[in-house]
This record gives sequence, C-alpha cells and structure tokens, in this order.
Amino acid sequence: MALQGDVREHLHALAAIDEPARPVRTATQLEAVDALIIPGGESTTIINLLHAFELTDRLTERLAGGMPVWGTCAGMIVLAQEVLDPRPEPLRLLDISVRRNAYGRQVASFEAHLDVEELGAPPFCGVFIRAPAVERVGLGVQVLAALPDGRPVAVRRGSMLATSFHPELTGDHRFHRYFCAFRRDCERPASRAAQGGRAP
Ligand code: GLN
Repeated sequence: MALQGDVREHLHALAAIDEPARPVRTATQLEAVDALIIPGGESTTIINLLHAFELTDRLTERLAGGMPVWGTCAGMIVLAQEVLDPRPEPLRLLDISVRRNAYGRQVASFEAHLDVEELGAPPFCGVFIRAPAVERVGLGVQVLAALPDGRPVAVRRGSMLATSFHPELTGDHRFHRYFCAFRRDCERPASRAAQGGRAP
C-alpha cells in the first residue's frame, strides 16, 4: 500500500528476495494484487488517504475476506481492532489494542534483538521508530515475538501479520521471506494458517 510511508524500502526488500511486488495507490491496483503490505509511516495519514482515495471499504472487504496482509508499525495500527489514542479510527480487522508512540518520541527510537522462533537463529534486529505498543491481544492471536518485558511486537492471526518494528530497514530479509511463505500458506485451504482464521 503505497499511499505514504516507507514503501520503497519494502519494495527493495521484496526485490532482494525475488518476490514480484508493485505499489498500490488506486482501486484498480488493489484489485490486481493478492497480498498486501501496509508500511510504516504515519497511521493517521495512511487512514486519511485511504478515505480520500475511497479505498477503505474495498480494502476492508478484501482483508476481511482473507487476502494476506502484513502491517509494519503504522501498518499495524491501521489493522488493529482498537487504538488507545484519540486518532486514528483503525480498520478493526486484527484483534489487538495498540497505543501509538508508546516508547517515546523519534529520538527514543531503539533496536532490540528479538528471538523469533519462526525465523530461527540468529535473533532478528527489531528497529523501533515511534513504535506502537501492543497492549492487548485477542483470543486466537499468536505472539511471534516479544520484548524482554513481555510486550508483543510481532503477532499473527489467520491471514494477518503485524509487527511494531521495521524489518524493511535492516537488510535482513528473513521477515519478508516469512511473509511470502505465510501468504502462500494462506492460499492453501487446508493449511494451518487458513485454519487460524477461525479462533482455535
Ligand atoms: N508513530 C507512527 C504512527 O502512529 C508510526 C511510526 C512508524 O510507522 N514508524 O502512525
């Protein structure tokens, strides 16, 4: 989703692993893809632009219908069920509650080594930039990675994946590979991922 944010970095990461990808800015382009990344950036701006380009309803319909999606940072906020701030009004697709800018301002950006079982060793370097905190995860939401204090930073449920950090900024493409495999897994009806669409 190329309305705002670090679109180019995601495209570079996908190109580096030979995954075809294209920017989506219009309703026609949205129809032409079968998986989507919503990038980091500014969630209020992304949501405002989704409304301005009249993409909100169709996007919500496609994602609710099972199109695989990965939201990174602002993208996680866009997907969330609940945002514990006055703005923005999220799409309410992924049953998590998030608090924006929970780790402080831009200068308080940080990196953390994350153990992510799905990626194996070594730990993944999480880059957190004015990141949201996941304050609640709903039933059936799987936590893939957490900070040492236990706060979840990568979650999935069914066809939805969300990370509060920025794998596209690291040069380590394991998370992009994971999403591409996850997305293919979602397309197989009998897969575990597809079953995860229903509460276990
Ligand atoms: N703070 C931004 C927001 O609330 C997210 C920051 C990011 O995507 N790096 O939307």
